[in-house]
Amino acid sequence: ETLGMAWNFDNSYARLPEIFFSKLNPTPVTSPELIILNERLATSLGLDVEALQSNDGLEVFAGNKIPQGALPLAQAYAGHQFGYFNMLGDGRAILLGEQINPQGERFDIQLKGSGRTPYSRGGDGRAALGPMLREYIICEAMYALNIPTTRSLAVVTTGEIVLRETELPGAILTRVAISHLRVGTFQYISNWGTKEELQALADYTIQRHYPDVGDAPNRYLFLLEEIGKRQAELIAKWQLVGFIHGVMNTDNMALSGETIDYGPCAFMDTYDPATVFSSIDRQGRYAYGNQPHIAGWNLARFAETLLPLLNENEEEAVKLAQGVLSDFTKLYRSKWLSGMRAKLGIFNEEIKDEALIEGLLSIMQKHRVDYTNTFLAITFEKYDQSEFFRTKDFSDWYKLWQSRLGRQTESKADSYQLMKNSNPAVIPRNHRVEEALDAAVKHNDYSVMESLVEALSNPFAHSEKQAEYCKLPPDLARPYRTFCGT
Ligand code: AMP
Ligand code: MG
Ligand code: MG
Repeated sequence: ETLGMAWNFDNSYARLPEIFFSKLNPTPVTSPELIILNERLATSLGLDVEALQSNDGLEVFAGNKIPQGALPLAQAYAGHQFGYFNMLGDGRAILLGEQINPQGERFDIQLKGSGRTPYSRGGDGRAALGPMLREYIICEAMYALNIPTTRSLAVVTTGEIVLRETELPGAILTRVAISHLRVGTFQYISNWGTKEELQALADYTIQRHYPDVGDAPNRYLFLLEEIGKRQAELIAKWQLVGFIHGVMNTDNMALSGETIDYGPCAFMDTYDPATVFSSIDRQGRYAYGNQPHIAGWNLARFAETLLPLLNENEEEAVKLAQGVLSDFTKLYRSKWLSGMRAKLGIFNEEIKDEALIEGLLSIMQKHRVDYTNTFLAITFEKYDQSEFFRTKDFSDWYKLWQSRLGRQTESKADSYQLMKNSNPAVIPRNHRVEEALDAAVKHNDYSVMESLVEALSNPFAHSEKQAEYCKLPPDLARPYRTFCGT
C-alpha cells in the first residue's frame, strides 16, 4: 500500500520487449489542484477515496509523486491518421501501471497531459482543462449508456498555462482503461519490430483480453475474429445512440473493444448520416454514417499486421484475413439490427424488419427530426411533440410498425418496456456540454457540470427531473463544431 491510497500495481506491459515503450516519469507541475474525483470508480478500483482526496492523492494525479509499485512509461504506437500512416506514441501521456482491483481485474492507470515524452514531436505534452473535462463528461455518459469505454478517475489543474490559440488553464486527466493496446500498437511493431516481437504482442493481447482462446487451431485467427466481434458490437452501440467519435484513426481503436480518445466527439441531434462535428474532418471521413465502414477499414489495417502470424503461406494468410473482414460487415449489421429492433419494441425477427427500420430512418432524415427525441417520443407515445408525427410519412410508417408489433407473442406493454430500456432520454447534448464547460473553465463554477454528469449517469431513468436535459438548443440551426482535444 502506497501513501495509504491502496494502489496495487502490476506492470505487465513493461515486461514486453524494450521496443514497445520508453520509461520515463511525468513532468512535475507547480501548483496542482484537484478538480474532480470519480469516487465510485475509485472505490471499484479498490482505492481509498479519502486518501486520494488528500495532498498525496493530488500529487499522484499531478504526476509529481510516483506511487509505490508504479513503473511509469510512454507507449510506442503508430497509426493511420485520416488515412495517412505516421509514427506516433504517447506524446502527452504516461502509463503509471496496471491497478489490480480486489476482484483481481486489471486496469491501466494513465495520466493524460503529463508532459513531453520521446514521442511528443512538436507538441508540448500538455492538455487544457476544457477538453479534459469534456472527456470526463462524455466517457462517463457512454459508460451509463452501457457502451464499453475508458473511464475518468480524476481531473486536476496544473496551475500552469498551456498555449493554444489562446492561453488556457492546463490540466491532467487520469484515465482508466482495460488496456491501451491499439491497432496502432500492432502497426508500430509490424513496421519497426521483429516477427518475435509481433508474436509477443499478439500473445500478450490474447492473454490480457481474449484468454478463452482454449485450444483454438489458429490462435491468431481467433484473436482477429474476437477483435472483429468486439468492434462490431461497439460500433453498433455507437450508431444506436448517435455517438460520433470524430477521429477514428487506427491509433484510436482499442483492441479491448472500449471507446477511447474523446477528442472532437459529439452526439448527433438531427438525424443525418452525413453528420460531422469535427472542424478538421473536412471530407467527412468520420461522419456518423461512415463509422461502420471505417471500423472495417481499421480492422483491415490490423489484419495486415497479423498476416505473418496467421499462416506461413502469405496467400493462405490473406484468405483467412479476408474471411474475417467480410464477416465483420455482416456481424456489424446483425448487431445493429438487433439493437434497432429493441429500440422499436420488437422481440422476434422478420426479414422485413430491416426495411421497416430503414423506412423510419429515411423519413426522419427527410423531415430533419432529432434522433434521440424521436425514439423517445414513440416510446412514450408523445405524438404531440413534433409536426413530424402529423405527417403522412409517419402515419404510414406507424401503421406498418403497429402491425409488426402485433406479429409477436409479447404484449404491447412488454414492447414499450423494452423501448424504455433501449431508448435513452439523456445524452450529452452539445449545448449542455458547452454550457457546463463554460461555467467551469470561464467562471470556475463546477455546479453545472456536476448536475449534467448526474443526469447523464442514469439515461434510462425517464424521470420528470430529467426532462430539462432532453430539450434541444434554441439555436439548433447554427452548425456545431468540435475541435481536437488539445
Ligand atoms: P490524438 O489526436 O489525441 O489521438 O493524438 C494523436 C497523437 O498526437 C498522439 O501521438 C498524441 O500523443 C499526440 N499529441 C496530441 N496532443 C499532444 C500534445 N499537446 N503534445 C504532444 N503530443 C500530443
Ligand atoms: Mg524502449
Ligand atoms: Mg489518440
